[in-house]
Amino acid sequence: MKIYKFGGASVKDSTNVKNVCNVLQTVGYNNSLIIASAMGKTTNALESVTHNYFYNKEAIETSIQEVKDFHYTIINELFENETHPIYVSIQNLFEKLSAFLNNNKSPNYNFVYDQIVSYGELLSTTILHYYLLDCNIVNIWADARDLIKTNTTYRDAIVDWESTEKSIQERITTNQLYISQGFIGSDPNGFSTTLGREGSDYTAAIFGNILNAESVTIWKDVPGVLNADPRYFEDTILLEHISYQEAIELAFYGASVIHPKTLQPLQQKEIPLYVKSFLSPELEGTEVSKGATLQPQVPCYIVKKNQLLISLATKDFSFIMEENISDIFKLFHQFNIKVSVIQNSAISFSVCAEDKFNHFQELRGLLSSQFKMSYNENVSLYTIRHFEFEGLEKILGDKTLLLKQVNRETMQMVTKE
Ligand code: ADP
Ligand code: ASP
Ligand code: MG
Repeated sequence: MKIYKFGGASVKDSTNVKNVCNVLQTVGYNNSLIIASAMGKTTNALESVTHNYFYNKEAIETSIQEVKDFHYTIINELFENETHPIYVSIQNLFEKLSAFLNNNKSPNYNFVYDQIVSYGELLSTTILHYYLLDCNIVNIWADARDLIKTNTTYRDAIVDWESTEKSIQERITTNQLYISQGFIGSDPNGFSTTLGREGSDYTAAIFGNILNAESVTIWKDVPGVLNADPRYFEDTILLEHISYQEAIELAFYGASVIHPKTLQPLQQKEIPLYVKSFLSPELEGTEVSKGATLQPQVPCYIVKKNQLLISLATKDFSFIMEENISDIFKLFHQFNIKVSVIQNSAISFSVCAEDKFNHFQELRGLLSSQFKMSYNENVSLYTIRHFEFEGLEKILGDKTLLLKQVNRETMQMVTKE
């Protein structure tokens, strides 16, 4: 079986949905499973619905209407006949969403978030399912909540591999074309969960692993994995073939073209991952596969914006030892703040971290009661794999360098504009 994952950009409007047919016709679609994300920026729009549900009730109807308008524009462009079954299916989904909003009693933000935000993927895959049928591409719509089983860590759910494997094996058979949702799953009580923002690549890898797929292909708006994000760097170079290890490092450091959790389930079973352009499906793109010696021949540049740089020093001039460090890390973990660089000296300790869930103010209070603390918000973290010393000034430009760390393969710099 082959797994194809279509991300938000590849289904962001009716032209791109039509293009999905073209991609499938070019590469073939027998015995395949399609995973799709929410269309365009729908997840952000549904995040606003969730926010309004809790904090701005008057705005909730307008924010739901935006999601409806966006999808109905696409549907009207794809399906001319007003009696097409798509209209009933989409109406049903919006009715279920409204019913949830009217009946929910849970004050748990993350739980409510998952119940609302999961509609993005349900809507997109319903549209794709019917559109592909209209293109004579027979396919079965599968609800990922019946397949991907997780715990109850809403917004960042952890996959229960055993029950996921059981459900997938019960429901997915070979020699069909399936379409299912990325990013979403369900908890043991059947409530929707999500796997973390941008998690659809990871869903594709979970299916790939459990179904022992021949390959997983993620369709992107770039020609493949490049040596830098073309949004921030000029003259990027396509990496045609990289090892799992290289890809995992690039993704971990923030090359957002592949979600970092995607590689491990594929590497485990040596399933190749292709990263290809949905605009030029005939091109090779990037192959990520086994081959420990595969290494890009060029430096790779990764930038993560909107990071935090936090420096802590002991108040009594004592050393920062293992005990302090483990206490500090417990707090980072507790507040779900992800640390990407660590540097320490005798009495001080610095980390560059990302506060996706806006918990820094709470953490700050706790840390500053124990340590002398200084911090910078909104800094950028540059990581250069296989760095060369020439060219570094160009990256730095007139930015201020706050922290630098170099090891054999990788240089990291935290900078302020
Ligand atoms: P989707 O959500 O549609 O699956 P993403 O937007 O998450 O796709 O990923 C594609 C984007 O990743 C590109 O548009 C590009 O800006 C960005 N990107 C970041 N780093 C890289 C890289 N090293 N190579 C290619 N694209 C990259
Ligand atoms: N729709 C989700 C998001 O935007 C998941 C994904 O696109 O991968 O984060
Ligand atoms: Mg995405």
